Amino acid sequence: MTNASNSAQSSAPVPNAGTRVLHRTSTSIPPRAVRGEGIYIFDQNGKSYLDACGGAAVSCLGHSDPDVRAAMHAQIDQIAYAHSGFFSSDAMEELADELVASAPEGIDKVYFVSGGSEATEAALKMARQYFLEIGQPDRKYVIARRQSYHGNTLGALSVGGNMWRRKQFEPLLITASHIAPVYQYRDQRDDETPEAYGLRVANELETAILELGAESVAAFVAEPVVGATVGALAPVPGYFKRVREICDQYGVLLILDEVMCGMGRTGTLHAIEQEGISGDLQTIAKGLGAGYQPIGAVLVSKKINDAIANGSGFFQHGHTYQGHATACAAALATQRAIKERNLLTNVVKQGENLVAALEAKLGQHPFVGDIRGRGLFRGVELVADRETKDPFDPTLKINAKIKKAAFALGLMAYPMGGTIDGVRGDHVLFAPAFIIDENDVAKIVDLFAGALDDVFKAEG
Ligand code: PLP
Repeated sequence: MTNASNSAQSSAPVPNAGTRVLHRTSTSIPPRAVRGEGIYIFDQNGKSYLDACGGAAVSCLGHSDPDVRAAMHAQIDQIAYAHSGFFSSDAMEELADELVASAPEGIDKVYFVSGGSEATEAALKMARQYFLEIGQPDRKYVIARRQSYHGNTLGALSVGGNMWRRKQFEPLLITASHIAPVYQYRDQRDDETPEAYGLRVANELETAILELGAESVAAFVAEPVVGATVGALAPVPGYFKRVREICDQYGVLLILDEVMCGMGRTGTLHAIEQEGISGDLQTIAKGLGAGYQPIGAVLVSKKINDAIANGSGFFQHGHTYQGHATACAAALATQRAIKERNLLTNVVKQGENLVAALEAKLGQHPFVGDIRGRGLFRGVELVADRETKDPFDPTLKINAKIKKAAFALGLMAYPMGGTIDGVRGDHVLFAPAFIIDENDVAKIVDLFAGALDDVFKAEG
């Protein structure tokens, strides 16, 4: 670098001077969250934000739950953390019992981690180790779906099919294959029933397995209701049953990613319950600890656990904070609160209210293409043209503008730019706390409609 370019660089304005934190963006410093109360977050200036997305579908009990706070205090007063290589804890054992008792059929053990990406990594490694234990070392390939997101670490990014997130890291990623997601709004043909469409896309899995060679495929990874890239896409009837059949036929493991859609978000504790099957491994995180502590887990089937227990007896993996006692105490209190307060009934009821209110207010909006989802996991897809379903030009950054406009009005809504065959589309995800009522639903929809007005008026 020449002196001239050096001095040019050092005299350039530093956009986020005033913070030593490397924030997500260098162009601004976010406000400071200083207090949480129910579904509201307050910043240092006293401004309130209605959290209609639970951050990223995390805060399912709101921000000040007395039972979770008490459970964390009680745990810290005993012991905050003891390394899992030396100790278990009451909180870890009781949480695992609770999770297995309410898990889909076949789940037998719980492997704790600190978040969603870690859960994906652990599940992928467990799948690989399973095949080593049972003497099938050639099984190394993973199949996932286009437009999917399973985490930002290199292994998780490798299986994810979101090109925008993957692109610059591609030389570092392991090989994975991608098939079509279930995307009824865009991909179901006019002459197809939902069931026929589901069968057609599920059968892409069989084609991919045969192309790779059945004896070399380890696992298929899928999110039962897709959240992270394409805003609350639910499967069609029969899709997951056919996927399960294909996995069983070719000896491929099914890894279900319920990091975002799990732990009650869609109206049942596990989203996959609504499909009538279970996975061999299932990841959970976000709503597990409701954001009070970072925690995730892999729900492990008896088949996988037995192979490891009767083989090497040691899962070749581990993290310093796995099974963190305070995190497990927070998650245990969260899961008990959901059950004891019967919150899943409210998820179903307010989810129906939310979709009805969105339909009533925005169903005919010229740029609203689709309103969808399950429970309190709802997505709105924005399109430039309702007839052709053409997405907006990605350079307009519509979803980022909506996030900004909503935030200015005091609403947190989760914006996304999914990749549709290389073209980014705009989506907004709603994932409010399970404690909301009708009035909160009305406020969310009013504020969101206001944000859309602000953005589209400015766009002309
Ligand atoms: N899987 C899914 C489906 C997710 O939505 C996310 C996060 O948004 C992850 C995995 C990664 O979780 P984390 O951000 O906790 O690492």
